[in-house]
Amino acid sequence: MLRSLVAMIVVGSIFISAAVAQPVTAAEAAEKPIKVLLIDGQNNHAWQQTTPAIKQILEGTGQFEVTVATSPPQGSDMSGFTPRFADYDVVLSNYNGDPWSESTRRAFEQFVSGGGGFVAVHAANNSFPGWEAYNRMIGLGGWGGRTEKDGPYVRWKDDQGRFTRDTSPGSGGTHGRRTPFLVVVRDSDHPVTRGLPKSWMQAEDELYGKLRGPAENMHVLATAYSEPATGGTGEHEPILMSVHFGNGRVFHTTLGHDLTAISGLAFQVTLQRGTQWAATGQVTLPPVSAQELTRDAPATRDPAGTAPVEQPAAE
Ligand SMILES: [Zn+2]
Repeated sequence: MLRSLVAMIVVGSIFISAAVAQPVTAAEAAEKPIKVLLIDGQNNHAWQQTTPAIKQILEGTGQFEVTVATSPPQGSDMSGFTPRFADYDVVLSNYNGDPWSESTRRAFEQFVSGGGGFVAVHAANNSFPGWEAYNRMIGLGGWGGRTEKDGPYVRWKDDQGRFTRDTSPGSGGTHGRRTPFLVVVRDSDHPVTRGLPKSWMQAEDELYGKLRGPAENMHVLATAYSEPATGGTGEHEPILMSVHFGNGRVFHTTLGHDLTAISGLAFQVTLQRGTQWAATGQVTLPPVSAQELTRDAPATRDPAGTAPVEQPAAE
């Protein structure tokens, strides 16, 4: 009798819980992974190698679920490349190639301006020189015939303690020889950089310089001095940027040329934090200390895990 009463109650409560929609609590919502759409398929860089590493770096935090959308190869019909941007929280571009179809471009603009996140990695800022909205999203870009018509150079001037916009004529996009270099945070009060050390070494990478673009609603979070001795510009060039495009947030990192660059803890930590910020507007990932992200030598980490890997000697 008692047993059947208990059974009735159990069955009854199962019925009730199945019948009543359970509200999602804030805690449960926070545990839901951020859905990332990573776009690749064309790039003058080894995207076949870097995409899996970027996926590992993000998913290793337990905060992201990465889906890859690979475009048709360069020179083919792009009309069938129609990623469903709206199904994701943030789009990450590891793409530098042929223009997307008009409808895909419009869908992407609507996704970001409507509040979606976008992350541009390294040569993604070489893409689409003729797509005005895209250039407003990335703030600054390089190569592809970019010149003063596309916007100013933006540089940190140490002697003035501020950023300047240089509209003088000249091409956009350059880099010297690959080398480890020091990245300096220019705003420690942004969610992406808050709690991080003030400067750190990135592993051997290309230090992009002379980028040009509309640079509207753009905030430079970190710069690096492009050393003339290694073929650089002699300027403090923007390295990490945040941009607001409509209601959307964009994180732009110029780092990440190849697997060596991507082994840099600096690349990894800023990518993780920047992607979370672009998707949600906040960063809950724990910062790393100056002991881990040191300014003396480039800290590296295997993207597949947390095991440190050997750093090749600097040139
Ligand atoms: Zn590169």
